[in-house]
Amino acid sequence: MLDGAKVSDAPEASAQRIRWRDIDPDAVKVVRKLLDAGHEAYLVGGCVRDLYLGLHPKDFDVATSATPEQIRRVFRNSRIIGRRFKLAHVFFGAKVIETATFRAPPRDNGEDDPLITHDNEYGSIEDDARRRDFTINALFYDIEARDIVDFCDGMADLDARIIRTIGDPVVRFQEDPVRMIRALKFASRLDFELHPQTRAALEEVGTDIEKCSRARLLEELYKLMRSGKARRCFEMMLAYDLLGYVWPGYVKAFEPHGGLVSPEQAHATQTPAAHALWAYLEALDEYVATTKHVPDNGVMQAILFAPLVGDDLVEAKRGQLDSKIDALMTPPCVELGVARRDRELARQIMMAYRRMLAPSRGKGLAHRQYFHDALLFLGLSVHARDEDGGALEHWQKLAATRRPDQERGSKGGGGGSNNKRKRRRRGGRRRRNGRSKGGDGKAANASS
Ligand code: ATP
Ligand code: MG
Repeated sequence: MLDGAKVSDAPEASAQRIRWRDIDPDAVKVVRKLLDAGHEAYLVGGCVRDLYLGLHPKDFDVATSATPEQIRRVFRNSRIIGRRFKLAHVFFGAKVIETATFRAPPRDNGEDDPLITHDNEYGSIEDDARRRDFTINALFYDIEARDIVDFCDGMADLDARIIRTIGDPVVRFQEDPVRMIRALKFASRLDFELHPQTRAALEEVGTDIEKCSRARLLEELYKLMRSGKARRCFEMMLAYDLLGYVWPGYVKAFEPHGGLVSPEQAHATQTPAAHALWAYLEALDEYVATTKHVPDNGVMQAILFAPLVGDDLVEAKRGQLDSKIDALMTPPCVELGVARRDRELARQIMMAYRRMLAPSRGKGLAHRQYFHDALLFLGLSVHARDEDGGALEHWQKLAATRRPDQERGSKGGGGGSNNKRKRRRRGGRRRRNGRSKGGDGKAANASS
């Protein structure tokens, strides 16, 4: 038995919360093989949280006492990744089961600033629970006993629908300020409340966000946008001032347009730019919810900047529009390190928008590499800007008659997502980035 862990007061109750059929069989295989090899192994983190809530986990992670090298020895279909902290990816086709060794919380770095700079010590299962961000993310699932192992009262917080940091929230946010964005992401996505102390800490140390690397902040921003609750996430980020710390240049760009105000204020004060952003985010959420497809980062950038371009999207002359997009996007995108490729795609699809509204002027567009992304953006705009859907129908019909392999420079699948499965090189597997884990980028028809 695990010292200190609550294996729940009423095991049957928590066990019953988790439906076996919702658990990925490959994740079960990974756990079983590790157990058979004599190691401890559990499902862990977000997947246990989602299973408990009756949701479908995006991906399944495993925590184990085995070291990465030992994991590698158990699974031929695995690869060790990570420089600072090594872990293993176990592959099942396109699916990845991330399998990590129990890790200890970082030791006191001896400085006044608790920001984590070294985070690479192995530990026990209990250590591993306590180094995690929120109580609800620190649950382990024991597949043999079919029970949840809970060191941090995560189940109680799941029942009470509370986001609470493990330990002192001020310290935990200072250690890794990205956790503040994560707190709001989970609150929005799950419709949970922040625990009062967690909320107070967020207000106290929000400016620490500035210490995070731009790459992590940008990735978190994209994650919020892909969450299906982008509008709510952005609203909360704005309400807690985090958006201004994450991306000051973007929020500032709204100043000449009446500011980036809340949806209610935008409605009451007739602030078109902010109003348009909320409408685009709502359209994005609806799209993600209905198609389960994740738009390309370039489409996300178009959604973020189209509200600032405003009516010029349809009214300005081509050259003027091009310069305006460039002037609006360049400074904030450079500030946050947005990839040039994503910026360029956003520019292309915003430029294509007007031509797509008048199909007779858009001949040849369907051959463009960015066509499906432009079509997706048109669909979102029709929704967000209350445009007439006639043009959308025209292009959707055209898209339906074109097979992806007929397209010049086709990206395949028609979804235009970065996350699509890449063709595997002969003799080796491509390294996957975090986003492709478990395949949250299922290809879907961008024209829906
Ligand atoms: P999602 O459904 O969005 O993937 P998740 O909880 O699985 O949610 P991940 O980013 O996949 O989130 O991380 C997996 C787990 O790793 C989390 O559940 C949490 O236990 C831990 N974790 C992730 N990021 C942090 C962090 N910044 N600090 C501490 N623990 C973290
Ligand atoms: Mg996850």
